[in-house]
Amino acid sequence: MRLLILGCGLAGSAMAWAAHRRGWSIALIDRVDLESSSHVAAGLVTPITGTRSAATWRWDSFYAAACHHYTRVERDTHSSFWHPQPALRLFHSEEERSRAQERWQRTDPADHSPWSPKIRLCHSEELAGLHAPHGGCWMEPAARLHTGSYLAKTRAYFQSRDEFFVADIDIDSQLAVPTNPSTEPLQLRLPSGPISVDAVVFCQGFEAKCNSWFSALPLHPARGDILTLAAENKEAVSGASSPFRSGSTLPELCRTHVVHSEVWMVPADRQNVLVGATYDRHHLHGRVDEDGPARTNREILLERVQRMLPAVNVQQWPVARHQAAVRPASYDRHPLIGRHPTVHNAYVLNGLGSKGTLMAPLLAEQLCDALLYDRPIDSMLEWSRRVLP
Ligand SMILES: Cc1cc2nc3c(=O)[nH]c(=O)nc-3n(C[C@H](O)[C@H](O)[C@H](O)COP(=O)(O)OP(=O)(O)OC[C@H]3O[C@@H](n4cnc5c(N)ncnc54)[C@H](O)[C@@H]3O)c2cc1C
Repeated sequence: MRLLILGCGLAGSAMAWAAHRRGWSIALIDRVDLESSSHVAAGLVTPITGTRSAATWRWDSFYAAACHHYTRVERDTHSSFWHPQPALRLFHSEEERSRAQERWQRTDPADHSPWSPKIRLCHSEELAGLHAPHGGCWMEPAARLHTGSYLAKTRAYFQSRDEFFVADIDIDSQLAVPTNPSTEPLQLRLPSGPISVDAVVFCQGFEAKCNSWFSALPLHPARGDILTLAAENKEAVSGASSPFRSGSTLPELCRTHVVHSEVWMVPADRQNVLVGATYDRHHLHGRVDEDGPARTNREILLERVQRMLPAVNVQQWPVARHQAAVRPASYDRHPLIGRHPTVHNAYVLNGLGSKGTLMAPLLAEQLCDALLYDRPIDSMLEWSRRVLP
């Protein structure tokens, strides 16, 4: 089997590894856009979401597959980018706290898989420096993927096998559909020469909007902005004119753990924290220019950080970097995978929304099985299911 995978974000990378492990040869193609959704993503994986403290959809199976996949890629590439660690969630009301307590503390541990979500409640006194009048909880298992490193290692691995190509593909002119597409190979025309493949999987994220083969894909994308804040700016902290009082720097918990409140905050390195993310359905591009949505989205994020850290003057933290990208979300927030209705060797893996890190590995396995054994796709994942806008 020779598989063409168009797009090497979280979806395409997971697909490439799943195919490679089955012994298939691949042609993995990406223009290498460092501002794509996967490159911008913080790579957070959390078991409980929203103010209703609901479990992440199909958490146990997605998380088991993600753990297995990322640790295996770490081994294969001699690197480290997958970091399981409990994450802290701050409550915004007593109601939210009671609901979490009720939902997650009364269940019988015997009913659970090793990956089932667990929480440990904590009181506001334990959360020094954070605005948490209703306390919070530690959630586990949770994890963070250093997406930039995972994607770079994936590209390098397949490049070393001559299976990764940097190219910007115009699908309509470069991907030729044979007379009988179900039985004859597809052909991709690259400047270096044509490549014949048995099947293609489109993993283009938001850009699938322009793919005429899957123009009916029900994407409902949302832009997200993310800031890198120089929270350990030494000059600001120690300078004579510093607005920082002693003890008014980043709380210790934010240096060591991911904290979720109105925004999430992630320790990036010794100097910086990442803060995100906005959810903007009106501006579907990743440009960061002052006359676009970037300024407003940045202010929204900084205001939320300020509410989370009342003892700090967040305005004094330089914004070291501002990035934005468009998440390929769907209307019902479930992924979109499956086969083309008439070109039976063309597939799609998309709709990962804000959960690409968690979901891509298991979906890639399922899509490979569908491809190999002609298995039907789970109706909750099938891209052509009826979803109401
Ligand atoms: C600010 C922000 C924060 C986020 N944080 C998280 C998080 O903490 N955890 C999490 O799980 N998710 C997070 N996400 C969501 C996550 O980014 C997505 O779920 C995921 O990246 C989608 O991956 P993808 O591979 O489907 O799409 P993409 O990342 O968009 O990848 C598609 C790739 O295809 C390439 N491509 C497309 N068309 C072509 C073509 N014609 N020729 C060549 N190359 C092409 C693109 O260049 C791109 O590299 C975040 C998103 C944003 C915007």
